[in-house]
Amino acid sequence: MSSTEASIPIRLHKPSSRDPRKAKYNTDKLVKRLRRQVGQAVMDYGMIEDGDRIMVCLSGGKDSYAMLDLLMNLKRSAPVDFSLIAVNLDQKQPGFPEHVLPAYLEQLGIEWHVIEKDTYSVVKRVVPEGKTTCGLCSRMRRGTLYEFARENGMSKIALGHHLNDIVETFFLNLFHGASLKAMPPKLRSDDGQHIVIRPLAYCLEADLERLAEIRNYPIIPCNLCGSQANLERQNIKRMLADWERVQPGRTMSIFRALGNVAPSQLCDTALFDFTGLARTSSET
Ligand code: SF4
Repeated sequence: MSSTEASIPIRLHKPSSRDPRKAKYNTDKLVKRLRRQVGQAVMDYGMIEDGDRIMVCLSGGKDSYAMLDLLMNLKRSAPVDFSLIAVNLDQKQPGFPEHVLPAYLEQLGIEWHVIEKDTYSVVKRVVPEGKTTCGLCSRMRRGTLYEFARENGMSKIALGHHLNDIVETFFLNLFHGASLKAMPPKLRSDDGQHIVIRPLAYCLEADLERLAEIRNYPIIPCNLCGSQANLERQNIKRMLADWERVQPGRTMSIFRALGNVAPSQLCDTALFDFTGLARTSSET
């Protein structure tokens, strides 16, 4: 661990064009766009305040690497002073390459911690064979991270969910939960003790994938636990990809709609007083 922050070296991995100048131009454009989107989301939702200690949750997947990268970048030019503390939870899944994240974080020169907690064995013991383990696993992970945040004076917890995750969650809730809700860019935990932020809320997954290729992040595969990927989410991903092929920009349009809600045009009596609705004028 060290306290001085350093830039993340750009290692060109898979240039998108054979012309190196064009590739560099495209890379610069992509990085600028992602920085702008993170800055905008942080501002729109008041995600970061002066003096914040932000726990950046790193899973080893592309999104969390990108989040740390972009937040470090934002910190260099932000008008407020805040600290970033990268935290990974080692759930003791068989084959987890425990040296990868420490080696990566050490070269960034930021404060980092790895929490070691064998939630894997608990989940395997408790969940019957053949049943999905993700529900219990996620709850245990969340509980452990919240506890660490509380004990270490973190004022915010940053998660790497992006725009596509938000839209997919909206459809999961719509199709399987009969409720109109998604995944907010900022939320207070149920116990009121934590503020969770999602600085990648305005970033598209395709852009983050591209950034991961360019930066050559040392990705840790997410299927080490042997669990199947969430099938319902995969179905929704496919549905959105099909729509996107027919009408490019549809996912973005759905995301914009989530920030442009008209309660009087929906049917929730708790959100709008339909029974009290009366004419404002009797003139014809
Ligand atoms: S895929 Fe594995 S590690 Fe990820 S939430 Fe599910 S059980 Fe946990």
